[in-house]
Amino acid sequence: MNNTENKALKKVKDIKEFTRQELETFFEKKGMRAFRAGQIFKWIYLRQADSFDEMTDLSKELRERLKKQFSIPRLVLQNSEKSIDGTEKLLFRLHDKKHVESVLIPEKNHYTLCISSQVGCAQGCRFCLTAKGGFERNLTTSEIVSQVRDARKILLDRDGDNSMPLSNIVFMGMGEPLANYDAVINALSIITDGDYGLKFSTRRVTISTSGMVPEIKKLGLATSANLAVSLNATNDKTRSMLMPINRRYPLKDLLAACREFKMKPRNKITFEYILIKDINDTDEDALRLVKILAPIRSKVNLIPFNEHEKSDFKRPSAAKINHFLQMLLDRNITAITRKSKGDDISAACGQLKAKLKLK
Ligand code: SAH
Ligand code: SF4
Repeated sequence: MNNTENKALKKVKDIKEFTRQELETFFEKKGMRAFRAGQIFKWIYLRQADSFDEMTDLSKELRERLKKQFSIPRLVLQNSEKSIDGTEKLLFRLHDKKHVESVLIPEKNHYTLCISSQVGCAQGCRFCLTAKGGFERNLTTSEIVSQVRDARKILLDRDGDNSMPLSNIVFMGMGEPLANYDAVINALSIITDGDYGLKFSTRRVTISTSGMVPEIKKLGLATSANLAVSLNATNDKTRSMLMPINRRYPLKDLLAACREFKMKPRNKITFEYILIKDINDTDEDALRLVKILAPIRSKVNLIPFNEHEKSDFKRPSAAKINHFLQMLLDRNITAITRKSKGDDISAACGQLKAKLKLK
């Protein structure tokens, strides 16, 4: 390939980087009709088109023009692993040979997809395997929405229209979504585009954060998707030891941001609380948790610590976990113990590391 060809190729943009509104503006600037953006979105996200040639309601001339300017790439599914409980880990290769994982979780009537927002993570939480590899880079909008689009295609290819619908998304894979704010917001707009995009209801999309206070405030104004906060401790000493971000945004500030978080009347913030033996699993912790959550419309997900080779932390006994849960329930806190899925294939919370395994 000569240099000119190379440059021409570089001008070709991945069309999934654009929200529908951005694409409309782009088309208008180029003298094309704005409503084409919606037509193209339907082909890409609803009909899973891989090329502009398939878009038969566009003129041949327009298709040729689009081909010169845009591409519609997919992520490469490098490997997948299925757990005995049906949970499946998808290892995707990105264009620069880096890798991310998504986790497909079968529920009763639908699938939930747990997606990644970064390659690695910079937050350094002590209990999390993703943290151990450090931070590599942010995912782009396209790479975030492609995890969803490509997972749907995988299900479609396997089970056809008989497949259970993939209807729920949680940003609980690798990375801190609010540290990649703009790409995540743009991805959300495509994922929840009800007319043309991936058509997820905002009620079925959850963004989990380690507690980036300024971005939590912005998020509430920008979207009605659900917020989950990884709390994991009830005092600053323990939380700062577990999660370095607590030194920048201590509990007082985090809880204030949660109290002020704008949400629909019946919505609640989910507080994730990993139970770690002898660290945050005492009766005093449970009582403090009840107290600090009292002023917030909230529910608690208790996650028994998933043990892994890079951590000395241990999971409390089942009896201790149940006792902690019961203490919350007795005090009118909505709480569940989250059953860990996919533990046997390292697909459970905090076990994702995208270590390359060849088929
Ligand atoms: N970075 C975001 C989202 C991804 S982590 C966040 O921290 O919220 C998703 C969840 O996995 C977090 O609630 C985190 O506390 C939890 N987690 C991390 N490591 C874990 C482990 N070893 N066992 C159980 N849960 C873990
Ligand atoms: Fe990053 Fe979340 Fe893991 Fe903390 S728990 S290191 S924020 S992915």
